Amino acid sequence: MEISFAGRRAVVTGAGKGIGRGTVKALRAAGAAVIALTRSPEDLESLARECPGVETICVDLGDWSATEAAIRSIGPVDLLVNNAGVAHLQPFLDVTQEAFDKSFAVNVRAVILVSQIVARQMIERGVPGAIVNVSSQASQVALQDHAVYCSTKGALDMLTKVMALELGPKKIRVNCVNPTVVMTDMGRANWSDAEKAEPMLNRIPMGRFAEVEDVVNSILFLLSDKSGMTTGACLPVDGGYLIS
Ligand code: NDP
Repeated sequence: MEISFAGRRAVVTGAGKGIGRGTVKALRAAGAAVIALTRSPEDLESLARECPGVETICVDLGDWSATEAAIRSIGPVDLLVNNAGVAHLQPFLDVTQEAFDKSFAVNVRAVILVSQIVARQMIERGVPGAIVNVSSQASQVALQDHAVYCSTKGALDMLTKVMALELGPKKIRVNCVNPTVVMTDMGRANWSDAEKAEPMLNRIPMGRFAEVEDVVNSILFLLSDKSGMTTGACLPVDGGYLIS
């Protein structure tokens, strides 16, 4: 299935590493003009070298006013991927206010702010748009030490549905992808321990974790007109974990 984003402008958050970085490259390869947003300048420098023509924005999505100013500065956008996320794993009884606030600020609050600004511009311009939020299988299953992370992703699934409900009449589709473990920096930090990873792997009917490319392909499908009648969906990219 050929997907072209020629003539479309896309923003990807958390673009410095992992799934976000892979999404930027794939969107570029499919002809989109891409704005890559993350908080580590060195990642943006290397991405700009690797992917000439990509615009870059360095901002901490946990900072509401800096994010608002950064997103307002980028001009019209047709496609948005809210990918940035953090995972502070703690046993429930040890959850701290700091982990809660930082996690919700990036994984949920920033999605609202960035999407509001982008969606308002789409509505003002009268153009259709597509937004994909990067959620997780952890939105739908309880995982040890994931009280805060699971809560943020559960909130993100529900946010996706309400956004889809309210923005559908404005021709803006909103969906999310829900990957299983991907061995990015985040995945390696939390799942490199074979003893911890094995029970998870054993429950995945496809018998493996997801690759960045698996997630990126689903994101591109949901951004594209090939999914033109799909909105408010949470698409598992989990090798069947959620039905096991
Ligand atoms: P990585 O940690 O590899 O990359 C995350 C990217 O987001 C980094 O570039 C990071 O920048 C950026 N980022 C984090 N916080 C902020 C912030 N406050 N402001 C701006 N940028 C920020 O993670 P993944 O690629 O694995 O994860 C991407 C998404 O996929 C996340 O939403 C995650 O929850 C989700 N996901 C990941 C899974 C996995 O197993 N890896 C499984 C399911 C879902 P920096 O490094 O500079 O902090």
